[in-house]
Amino acid sequence: MKINIIREKRKTMVLKIVDSENAVLKAPTNFSQKKIDDFIESKSKWLEKNSIKMKEKENLSHSFDFETYLYLNGKIFSSTAELAFDFNALTQEKKKKLIKKFYLANFERLETLAKEISDKTGLKFKEIKPTTSVRIWGSYNISKVMKLNWKLLILPKELSEYVIYHELCHSVHMNHKPKFWKSVEKFCPNYKQLKKELSFYSFVLKADF
Ligand SMILES: [Zn+2]
Repeated sequence: MKINIIREKRKTMVLKIVDSENAVLKAPTNFSQKKIDDFIESKSKWLEKNSIKMKEKENLSHSFDFETYLYLNGKIFSSTAELAFDFNALTQEKKKKLIKKFYLANFERLETLAKEISDKTGLKFKEIKPTTSVRIWGSYNISKVMKLNWKLLILPKELSEYVIYHELCHSVHMNHKPKFWKSVEKFCPNYKQLKKELSFYSFVLKADF
């Protein structure tokens, strides 16, 4: 891990991970090198742990290829009339457009899942809308409108289910206080694991379509 030390006008030291190989340490101008070294030493376990985490994320992100994933995961995609032409010959921009169009056309799969879960749990929503957010997988507002990110369709189904349970629990608790998480846990006992898995796919969420 390479640590870039920046001296600046501040009172305390702050250490931030940039990626699996780089970190930045901001330190007050008057701190001695020894003080800085000791601080880094005290954080070595933390640095190592987070470097491994970052590495895992980077590997996953690099191995994730939208086209391959779509061909393998969405057999339906390759059987649609839209693919009567050579998909690989398209520009990246056109591929993305096509992928988005395809998933939006299949958004009803998320709607059906949401209705099933709503019926099963008794948790209600009034309307469901797709979103292309690069920030959130889903949302639920006081008018009982639930938004679901169509990119969920790219992920394993259990993650869509988790997001739907999560959003529907907001129909009872409009916050993320312990009572909210208790009700999520009632429907998804392994929600902590699912949350972790979902955060693994943040590069899908961040993909700009
Ligand atoms: Zn929430």
